[in-house]
Amino acid sequence: MNMDYPDCAFCRIATCRVPAEIVYEDSESIAFLDIHPLFPGHVLLCPREHYETLSDLPLGLTGPLMAITQLLARAVEAALDAEGTFIAINNRVSQTVPHLHIHVVPRRRRDGLKGFFWPRTPYRDESAREAVRDAIEREIQKLLV
Ligand code: AMP
Ligand code: ZN
Repeated sequence: MNMDYPDCAFCRIATCRVPAEIVYEDSESIAFLDIHPLFPGHVLLCPREHYETLSDLPLGLTGPLMAITQLLARAVEAALDAEGTFIAINNRVSQTVPHLHIHVVPRRRRDGLKGFFWPRTPYRDESAREAVRDAIEREIQKLLV
């Protein structure tokens, strides 16, 4: 059952009505490249069902979602040759899409990400974006073996 919210950007992606650069999906969750990445490889992980915040997520889904967060953190780190990751959830305050999503952002020391002043880094072009998407998907496949 998908309690679909037609006006919700991430429900539209979760139900394949709007395209996205998907790196991972299963029956309960979907992960795709952020359209305005902090850095290339910035991924968003969502439950397929529409829950607004982490607090709204049924307990039974928290474990599986955190396991996928860990998978994505490993894959993004490996795919982008990053030193670490930043994992974040905006719950209502600063939340621009009211469908729970976990940000997985590759980090390097002195990469300029400080506090709430976050410079955005667009992909050079479509092929650069595709290469990053492919690299993350490949790393996920390796990790799932
Ligand atoms: P937040 O501000 O925490 O709610 O994050 C929402 C994120 O969703 C932002 O980083 C946006 O760049 C991203 N975003 C919005 N619409 C889309 C979309 N259609 N596809 C991919 N990312 C999106
Ligand atoms: Zn939604």
